[in-house]
Amino acid sequence: MADCIFCKIAQKEIPSKLVYEDDTVVAFRDLEPQAPQHVLVIPKKHVESLLALEEEDKALVSHILVDVIPQLAQKLGIAEKGFRVVANTGEEGGQTVKHLHFHLLGGRSMQWPPG
Ligand code: AMP
Repeated sequence: MADCIFCKIAQKEIPSKLVYEDDTVVAFRDLEPQAPQHVLVIPKKHVESLLALEEEDKALVSHILVDVIPQLAQKLGIAEKGFRVVANTGEEGGQTVKHLHFHLLGGRSMQWPPG
C-alpha cells in the first residue's frame, strides 16, 4: 500500500535492520526496542491487522507462527529462556502501524499483566 511504512520496509524503500526474509515475510528490529531483543515480523503483503485476515491468508499466518517466529527465537538466542509474541490490534489494542505485525520480544523477564 502506497503510504504504509511497513510495506516500504518490506520493499526496501526505507532502511531497516533486517533479521529475516523469505518470499512472503520479513522481520526487522523495532526502532524503539522494548526489550534486549525486539523484532517485528510482518507479511510482505499488506494486511491491516488480524481483523483483516482472509481465508487465503491462513497459510501465511501459520508460516509466521509455526516456522518463522520459533526459528527467529532460536537465532536471537531467546528460545531457551522464553519470549513473548504480541499482535496489537486496533485502537485499544495499541496498534499504531496499520500493517499486521507480530512483536517478538525477549532477553528479559516479561511482566504480566501488560500495562
Ligand atoms: P504497534 O504499536 O503495535 O503498531 O507497533 C508499531 C511498532 O513499529 C512500534 O514498536 C514502533 O517502534 C515500530 N516502528 C515504527 N516505525 C518503524 C521503523 N521505521 N522501523 C522499525 N520499527 C518501527
